[in-house]
Amino acid sequence: MSHKTVRVRFAPSPSGFMHLGNVRSALINFLFARQKEGTFVIRIEDTDQERNIDPDAGFILKDLAWLGLDYDEGPLKSGPHEPYYQSRRTALYEKYRAECQERNLIYRCFCTSEELENRRQRQLALHQPPRYDRTCLALTEDACAARVAAGSPFIWRFKLDYEKTVSFYDLGHKTMQFDLKHFSDVPITRQDGSFTFLFANFVDDKEMEITHVFRGEDHLSNTAPQVALYEAFATEAPVFWHLPILGNAQGKKLSKRDFGFSLTDLRANGYLPEAILNYLGIIGHSVEEEIMDKEKLIETFNFEHISTTGQIRYDLEKLRWMNHQWIRRSNTLELTLLCQPYLKAAHVFYETLNSEELEKLVAYIQPELITLEESPQALDFLVNRPAPSKELLESHHLSEYKPFLKNLYSHLEQLLETKTDILPVIQKMCKEESLPSKNIFVLIRIALTGKTQGLSIKDMQRILDASEIKERLTVLFS
Ligand code: GLU
Repeated sequence: MSHKTVRVRFAPSPSGFMHLGNVRSALINFLFARQKEGTFVIRIEDTDQERNIDPDAGFILKDLAWLGLDYDEGPLKSGPHEPYYQSRRTALYEKYRAECQERNLIYRCFCTSEELENRRQRQLALHQPPRYDRTCLALTEDACAARVAAGSPFIWRFKLDYEKTVSFYDLGHKTMQFDLKHFSDVPITRQDGSFTFLFANFVDDKEMEITHVFRGEDHLSNTAPQVALYEAFATEAPVFWHLPILGNAQGKKLSKRDFGFSLTDLRANGYLPEAILNYLGIIGHSVEEEIMDKEKLIETFNFEHISTTGQIRYDLEKLRWMNHQWIRRSNTLELTLLCQPYLKAAHVFYETLNSEELEKLVAYIQPELITLEESPQALDFLVNRPAPSKELLESHHLSEYKPFLKNLYSHLEQLLETKTDILPVIQKMCKEESLPSKNIFVLIRIALTGKTQGLSIKDMQRILDASEIKERLTVLFS
């Protein structure tokens, strides 16, 4: 591995929302920068105006902040390579293009997309590698000038040396070699004069002195032509790691249709950033301990032994399990604040509770809770009167205690109205009748909550109003 000071970048295109593949790339770059005490750069790749749904990448920057992936250079921060938006770096790309023109490394191509497509189809039919046939490379200078004068639209292409093989180092695949003769001469501009991803991405990585490029495997085919560009500029190419693509349960590439693909969905459904990072930080390789926070991931992530998995399966159940682990570990007060919006949106009842009462409820569901969104469901018995089954009540000997319970209830009614603690009275009456009070308590709890364990009778008395408690208790003697 290189001994230069590490500089890595996460370079999203603001074409909507962040998906898990992006988050994983961001995380891996972040972990590497922090582990190697390097610099983590954010660069927004917004040269394709048509796909810019989120022009200033505000959503992405907020998502990164929510995830806790802090960066050293990038938008909203200063840095030696400002601006960090590609749309504001055109002059630099133009400088590189002009140098290429000067050195005769590029040529104009006037072929229309229709012509290119027809030729491509023909090549495929003849079982030839589909690459640009260099029609425009053969144009004379005069012919070229005439077309420009006539206003024919064109793009610039970087001429590859078809005799050459380029090689680069990839942490997963190790040394990779590609014969350039299999590639088309690289379009570096579009017909509207804007610069292509492949070129702008190369110029910026070079200018920003990026030492390691970790990105999705879908970019592997761009890497060989980019390495050819590095060679043309006599610059050492960075080390790469093309991260395996995330696949769904059916082994297909994870897509918008798969739940949990978009970070926005996961966030809205109450997944914690800690769980998402933990999950994405451990998939695809074996770890001694599965639950790790950011610091632990930085410390233990093994960049020296990367396995070459073809695809990593995204397992929502595993992520749910991890979320559950992180919820269990959360501070209850903080968890209460996180659950609050879900509870309040679910029922007005929660508006009536003070923060202490809410915290008590959250503490009660915390050991079982999987996502924040599921908190109203876990507390459903509070707002929807439970209907405990006869079997459950009878398994706790309801018939046997019914006469006692009826009598007890007549002593409790008044106390309930005045919100006086009913426990001492229950205990006292059990004692008088020589009945085991715990058997009575469990029946009362079943009547109030539908469950044998959970919130205490005292808590329930505090949370529910008297008439509701009375209604619930009637199953014990009616
Ligand atoms: N803008 C590219 C993407 O979002 C970045 C690829 C790279 O990291 O080089 O896929």
